Amino acid sequence: MKKHLGLTFAALVMLVSAPMAQEKIDKDVQWKIRREAMENSQIMHTMHFLTDVYGPRLTGSPNLKAAQDWVVKETTRWGLKNAHLEPWSFGHPGWVNEKLSVHAISPFKDALVVEALAWTPGTNGPVTAQVVQLTTPPSPTKDVLTKFFADNSAKVKGKIVMVGPPGVVPVAIVTPAKRRDDNEVRAQYDAANPQQPNFGGGPPQAPNPNVVPAGQVAEQLDQFLVSSGAVGRINDAGREHGQIRAFNNRTFDVAKTVPTVVMRNEDYGRISRILADGTPVEVEFNIVNRTVPEGATVYNVVAEIPGSDKAQEVVMLGGHLDSWHSATGATDNAIGSATMMEAIRILQSIGVKPRRTIRLALWSGEEQGLLGSQAYVKEHFGMVENPKPEHANFAGYFNIDSGTGRARGASVFGPPEAAAVLREATKPFADNGFFGVNPTQSRRRGGTDSTSFNEAGLPGIGIQQDPIEYNSHTWHTNLDTYERIIEQDAQQSAMVIAAAVYHLAMRDQMLPRLPREKMPPLPTP
Ligand SMILES: [Zn+2]
Repeated sequence: MKKHLGLTFAALVMLVSAPMAQEKIDKDVQWKIRREAMENSQIMHTMHFLTDVYGPRLTGSPNLKAAQDWVVKETTRWGLKNAHLEPWSFGHPGWVNEKLSVHAISPFKDALVVEALAWTPGTNGPVTAQVVQLTTPPSPTKDVLTKFFADNSAKVKGKIVMVGPPGVVPVAIVTPAKRRDDNEVRAQYDAANPQQPNFGGGPPQAPNPNVVPAGQVAEQLDQFLVSSGAVGRINDAGREHGQIRAFNNRTFDVAKTVPTVVMRNEDYGRISRILADGTPVEVEFNIVNRTVPEGATVYNVVAEIPGSDKAQEVVMLGGHLDSWHSATGATDNAIGSATMMEAIRILQSIGVKPRRTIRLALWSGEEQGLLGSQAYVKEHFGMVENPKPEHANFAGYFNIDSGTGRARGASVFGPPEAAAVLREATKPFADNGFFGVNPTQSRRRGGTDSTSFNEAGLPGIGIQQDPIEYNSHTWHTNLDTYERIIEQDAQQSAMVIAAAVYHLAMRDQMLPRLPREKMPPLPTP
């Protein structure tokens, strides 16, 4: 271990002494960060509590609150200050699934693999019913949809309804790479010629005014199943190898849906094919779900290393602590929370005395639309068009939320000079596969919490990671557990983030920000 670190340290000295460097890099602190990260990692200990003990951590659930209380205790034990919960209003009750069993009764007997759709009701004991399959007409007009519901009302009464045909999931002959190629990542973060990944998608197509939008079809279908007296609903997971992604009833109101499960594609297909033979199928639902009224108020967790001469200026790091409910939410996003906790723990334990305050924030409500970070930014900073005093003292927010893969690069909302500062600060970590930082000027609210800061005109820093099994297996699925974590990847992420956070907390000036006249306007929704 020592020998390895020694070699790394030599490489680091060579890199930071290159004539390009304008940032003063504290090599001694970076060395201590590396040693603490590799020799005293707390990541898997943190992961055990966040997943095995307190997972899943659905927003508004007692589990999430217990996880947050544990983070307050743990970070306080590490010596962080001001650890506390900050409430925000979710506006819906919490929801938990406590029991779930779905069985085929005839013509075959078998346990069926399902997850409950969140914010749907339970069954009040076991119910057995015949299964019918129902597919709403594609792109229906209002008249077509009305007739469809009228024609099918008697068919679904007292039945369990499978909605839609089974998805066809072809065998993947070529599976996606688990790590990104070094040269490709280097090219992406080449400051002279950044290759921005192409996220695709052409201009949006104008909606046909005669067609009922898909969201309204879904809402009317729920109303129809309730008012027609269906006893249950089954959705197809539509993924390979028993993977199930279960989200929520969009209204968050259990009175507006029938008991609903998402079934693995393999069971859904089997039942569909037997029904197509003309053979009746009977299924039993036994679901215990509970709504949690006190879950209407939820929390973000915050803890700090107080600054010294610039204590009123703040560098933040974090990610969302909430998860979906069908697994323990290990890669989304217990590992991001554990990584950011580890980064601040490392800084605390090597005894840094930062000039600016370093603040950890773990959000809730991310999965329902970045709600926790939105509430926090609104409360503390406001928008650049209508700022609160703290807006001027904000020196950057690092966010991580793409699974267990090690950090490979980052984007920062701001001018190219902001990216240059972070690029210099992280350059010594090229040996970990971290290859640079690009600027972005997009204020569009996107897939994770850093964009809540970008939207407000603040420097949100989004970490880009190796994919590992995130999009292919674990993201939002029933397979998202502790077993899927690669500790060494998270250690590498924690050390580069700790070093970058420390650098921003120490340099004479705050991270450069876009001047008011260059600030892009808020995008139209
Ligand atoms: Zn996430």
